[in-house]
Amino acid sequence: MMNMQEEKKSKKNALNRKTIEKLIRKLLIELGENPNREGLVDTPRRMAEMYEEIFAGYRMNSGLDISFSEESDTIIAKDIQFYSMCEHHMLPFYGKINIAYIPSGRVFGISKLARLVEKYSRRLQIQERLTKQVADEIMEMGVKGVLITAEGEHLCMKMRGVRNGSLIMTIAYRGILEQKRLREDTLSLIYTPKAELLST
Ligand SMILES: [Zn+2]
Repeated sequence: MMNMQEEKKSKKNALNRKTIEKLIRKLLIELGENPNREGLVDTPRRMAEMYEEIFAGYRMNSGLDISFSEESDTIIAKDIQFYSMCEHHMLPFYGKINIAYIPSGRVFGISKLARLVEKYSRRLQIQERLTKQVADEIMEMGVKGVLITAEGEHLCMKMRGVRNGSLIMTIAYRGILEQKRLREDTLSLIYTPKAELLST
């Protein structure tokens, strides 16, 4: 159960579904559609509900402050799936994020890292900033170094404009992972095929 203060806060931050429904209805009319036809009559409500879900990142905490005492070298969480919305066209971009960090006596729960990715992807974004924000929040928790790589497919490139489906890669590194050799080692751990890792 939420206490009253939390409830007040979450209400304040939640999307106003009624306003969004009205705006979507207006948009449907502007597109030349009849918002009252069977297939569209509930679309504004469905979209308002969906926006609450896909833009939930604005109201999320990563929970990274909950960590465990543990000495460890590099930790890598590979292939964390993300779905985000490009802020220039409000079309989806999605893909995978790899997180590598070198802890300083405390490690994060794996689910917290996935939640951190959701916090920054479930909002209007660009991939470059998403990569940096994930790196910065981990760095702020006092780790020795962090390296983030992201690979994303962008529907605004595939469906429109250049209609080119190339995969966009972004990278951000902080702390001791700014050292070239350490960074190269970590990148090769992320990108070495699993079969090869097993055999060596
Ligand atoms: Zn775009």
